[in-house]
Amino acid sequence: MLIREQVPLAPLTTLGVGGPARYFIEACTEDEVLEAVGFAHARQLPLFVLGGGSNLVVADSGFPGVVLKVGIVDVSQAAAPDGEVIFDAGAGVDWDALVAKTVEAGCAGLECLSGIPGTVGGTPVQNVGAYGQEVAETIREVRVLDLRSLETTTLTNAECRFSYRSSLFNATGRGRGRYIILRVSFALRHGGKPTIRYAELQEFLGHHPAEPALAEVRAAVREIRHRKGMLIVLGDDDAHSAGSFFKNPIVPMSVFTELAARLEARGWQLPSYPAGDGFRKLPAAWLVEHAGFPKGYIKGAAGISPRHALAIINRGDATAADILVLKDEIQERVKDKFGIELQLEPVFVGF
Ligand SMILES: Cc1cc2nc3c(=O)[nH]c(=O)nc-3n(C[C@H](O)[C@H](O)[C@H](O)COP(=O)(O)OP(=O)(O)OC[C@H]3O[C@@H](n4cnc5c(N)ncnc54)[C@H](O)[C@@H]3O)c2cc1C
Repeated sequence: MLIREQVPLAPLTTLGVGGPARYFIEACTEDEVLEAVGFAHARQLPLFVLGGGSNLVVADSGFPGVVLKVGIVDVSQAAAPDGEVIFDAGAGVDWDALVAKTVEAGCAGLECLSGIPGTVGGTPVQNVGAYGQEVAETIREVRVLDLRSLETTTLTNAECRFSYRSSLFNATGRGRGRYIILRVSFALRHGGKPTIRYAELQEFLGHHPAEPALAEVRAAVREIRHRKGMLIVLGDDDAHSAGSFFKNPIVPMSVFTELAARLEARGWQLPSYPAGDGFRKLPAAWLVEHAGFPKGYIKGAAGISPRHALAIINRGDATAADILVLKDEIQERVKDKFGIELQLEPVFVGF
C-alpha cells in the first residue's frame, strides 16, 4: 500500500479546485482499507474518504489529514431465487461502467442513472437520483467498515435510511463519517422494462416507434445529460462542476401557498412538485434563475453553466474561494427574494 504525501486534490475532482492532501492512500482491498484507517488513527489525523470526486468542493488549503481512496473494483453478478439479478460491486468501480454492464445484461433498475459521474461507493451517500430513479430503489445491501468498532458489517436498505439526497451516510448527527463503504449490491429485474416516468425523458423518447429498450433509455439519458453539460466529456468546459450545487427545497404546504400567492401577484407562476403529505418540492433552478442568476452568469473565474442553472462551474482557474463567493451570493439573494434557504448538495472538504 503506497502512502503518498502532499498530493494535489484538485485534479481528482470534477470541479477542479482545492489544495493538497497531507497524506493520500489508495486501498485496493478491505485489509488495505483497515490498514489505512490504522495509519490515520495512529497519527491522530482526520480521515476523508474520496470516491470519484464528483460531489466535492475542496478547500484551497487542502486537507490536513489522510485522504483515502477506496480502489476495490471487482463486480459479481448472480441470479437470486426471486428472479432478480444481484450485482455486487466494489466501492471503487466507476458508476457509469456498472450501469452499462447492467444494461448490457438486460437488467432494469439503473438505466436512468446513466452518465452520473463518480464511483459505486459514492452513490448511497446522497442517494443519487436522476430522470426518475434513485439508487435507494435498487440497493439491496451496503457493506461497510464501521469506524467506531473497526468491524466490517452489512447494512440492509432500510438501515441506510434513504430519502431525497440523504442517507445514514450523510445525515447530520447520524452516520456521517462513521462508515467507509466497501461494496454495494443492487437487486435488478432481468428482462424488466425501463423506467420512463420523468417528463423530460418521456418527451425525448416521445417519437420512439416502439417501447424503448434499456439501452435506448440509457443512450437517451446520456444525450439529455450531454446537452446540459451534465456528462463528463473531455473538452466540455461546462462539465467542470460538482453537479447540482443546490438541493431542490422541500417546504411545508403553508410556505408554498403563501409564496405562490405572493409571486402570482407579481405575475410569476411558482412551479412545484408533490413531496409527500403536506409538503411541496420547489425547483432550485427556478429560484436561482428568478433571483437574478441566469445560465451563463459569470463571477470572476467562477460562473453558472450556460447549459444548467444549478451547476456552478470552474471557468478555468477558479479557486475554492471564488466558488464560495458565488455560492454565498446566490444563497443570500434567493433568501432575500423568496425567503427560502438553499441547501448545498456537494460535500465541503477541509473547510
Ligand atoms: C457533471 C455532474 C453531474 C452530476 N449529476 C448528478 C445527478 O444527476 N444526480 C446525483 O444525485 N448526483 C449527481 N452528481 C453528483 C455526484 O456525481 C454524485 O453525488 C456521485 O455519486 C458522487 O460520487 P463520487 O464517487 O464522485 O463521490 P465523491 O464526490 O468523491 O464523495 C462524495 C461524498 O461521498 C463520500 N464517499 C465517497 N466514496 C465513499 C466510500 N467508499 N465510503 C464512504 N463515503 C464515501 C465522500 O466522503 C463524500 O462525503 C453529478 C456531478 C457532476 C460533476
